[in-house]
Formats: sequence, structure tokens, C-alpha cells
Amino acid sequence: MTRAFYIGRFQPYHNGHQYVLEQIAETADAIVIGVGSAQLSHETENPFTAGERILMITGSLKHIRIPIYVIPIEDIKRNALWVAHVRSMVPPFDIIYSSNPLVMRLFAEESIPVLSPAMYERELHSGTEIRRRILKGEDWEKLVPDAVARVISEIGGVERIRQIARNDCDLNDRPVDRCL
Ligand code: ATP
Ligand code: MG
Repeated sequence: MTRAFYIGRFQPYHNGHQYVLEQIAETADAIVIGVGSAQLSHETENPFTAGERILMITGSLKHIRIPIYVIPIEDIKRNALWVAHVRSMVPPFDIIYSSNPLVMRLFAEESIPVLSPAMYERELHSGTEIRRRILKGEDWEKLVPDAVARVISEIGGVERIRQIARNDCDLNDRPVDRCL
């Protein structure tokens, strides 16, 4: 029984994440997905809530026939303690899949096996590029699973990203009550 762990911020979930998870599903018996920086939303770098991101992920993975657990994980801002924090929040897992060098390092230091999946057309398929395209009114829907485009439409995500970008106070540095 192998339970695999995968973590990202998923702002938004995109075809690169989908490609990796479909591959993991071929070998693992269950998948645990951590939704990182879960407390953040309504910022230009982090526009979607944890709950919205969970809808994107579960909607995109409906066809996968093994158990999938999607767990929000808030930041603790203590890298040396972060792996223990993550493990305290999610079902036990045997292996982590990540291509993020810091994430790989922190798990390896805790003697957890790390596998680094190949990137899927990274120049196009990155959260940063998709948020940029949404903001600029460029084509983005083809870079995400249909379920993600539907969630973004349902919650008015395009308008949200454009409206928060117009704010005269940098919401990435300050919570809303310090931006009034
Ligand atoms: P952002 O630009 O907002 O940081 P991101 O595309 O890097 O978004 P994250 O939500 O940060 O996505 O998720 C990080 C995880 O997703 C990492 O393990 C990263 O390697 C993986 N990942 C991101 N893009 C791709 C891709 N195109 N192909 C495969 N894996 C990817
Ligand atoms: Mg990233």
C-alpha cells in the first residue's frame, strides 16, 4: 500500500499539476494532496481560497479511481518545522512527489523518499503565467482542466483577479484591514 503526497498552492490548479497527478495515480494506491498557503486568498499571487482550490482539484480528478484526500495546510513560516507541521495535518504517506527544490530538501532531510516528476510545458503551465493571462485578458482556459475553468467562472474569479489588482494598497504585504 503506497500513499503518495503532492503539495502546491494551486493558484490555480493547472494542466501541469493534472499531468503529474495522473502519472502518480498509475503507481500509487492513494494520493494525499496538500493545498499550501491555505489561509491566503484575494491577493494577486494567491487569488483563490482553500475551499475554491479544493473544488478545482476534486472536480479535475473525478475520473481517478483511487482514494484522493485534499487537505488545506496553512503556512507556519518555520522551514525547519514545516515537514512536521505538514505531517500533523494529513494522512500518513510513504513518498512525496515534488519538483520544488526547497520542498525536496526539507522532506529529504526528514528521510522521506522524494521523487521529482518531469515538468509539463512549464513556460505555459505555471500558476504565475495563468494569473498573468487572466489579468491581461489573454487566453488561459486551455491551460487548466475544464473543471477549473468552471469553478473560476462560478466564483467570478476573473473579475476578482482584475479587481484586486486595481487596489491602491499592496494586499500581498498587508491584510485588508490595513489597506482601508
Ligand atoms: P506559481 O507560479 O503560482 O508558483 P506553480 O505553477 O509553480 O504556481 P504551485 O501551485 O506552486 O504551481 O505547485 C507547485 C508544484 O507543482 C510543484 O511540485 C511544481 O513542481 C509542480 N508544477 C508546477 N508546474 C508544473 C508543470 N508545468 N508540470 C509539472 N509540475 C508542475
Ligand atoms: Mg510554484
